[in-house]
Amino acid sequence: MADLEQRWTTVSAEISDAARSAGRAPHDITTIVVTKFHPAELVRRLWALGVRNFGESRHQEAQPKIAELSDLDAVWHFVGQVQSKKAKLVRGYVDVVHSVDRSSLVDALTSGPPAIAPLEVFIQVNLTEDPDRGGAQPAQVESLADEIVGSDGLLLKGLMAVAPLNVEPRREFARLRALSEQLRTQHGEASALSMGMSGDFREAIAEGATHLRIGTAITGNRPIAG
Ligand SMILES: *Cc1c(COP(=O)(O)O)cnc(C)c1O
Repeated sequence: MADLEQRWTTVSAEISDAARSAGRAPHDITTIVVTKFHPAELVRRLWALGVRNFGESRHQEAQPKIAELSDLDAVWHFVGQVQSKKAKLVRGYVDVVHSVDRSSLVDALTSGPPAIAPLEVFIQVNLTEDPDRGGAQPAQVESLADEIVGSDGLLLKGLMAVAPLNVEPRREFARLRALSEQLRTQHGEASALSMGMSGDFREAIAEGATHLRIGTAITGNRPIAG
């Protein structure tokens, strides 16, 4: 579909522009196309356009879809909440988990026989006061980071957040960046920042995002959830 190619080309150009405006190299930014609710066929079309990083957020949907696409050498990112009882399954089919937000999930991801390759993880930070939103509170980041770094089989990449609704996103991304700088005083290698979605990736790039998670701006509207 020509529209898909058009959106991918446009968004990629906007990402490059935003990077250059921020004095950053576009190739230092990884664009993850979030394909939740879309069929495997859409992933194949994106692959044909050169997309290599894909994101999914629901285990029930991601597991069969990723299995169906196992012939592609894609990098799969899990960006949604992970139930502890599904953690071992999720770790079996993704390369990166962006939503580690509690100690029990670290345990669940590392229980059982060690995997061949370490699983890359981000600590998701909750930037709201609402404990029901996913993510660890900022005050919990340090202990969670120590636990991940001390674990067998997990590689701490950095921090992830979703900007809260109805606030200026750039200010929230600046908060995550400050937390990241703090984290790096203890864990210098955990320097990645997963932030920025369809509506706010420019602001995220200005604040140092290294991993963008972009859905609708590239895929078009998601089909209604079944
Ligand atoms: C769906 C989703 C995205 C992509 O959202 P868009 O607004 O469609 O770009 C990014 N991050 C997470 C955690 C998501 O669940």
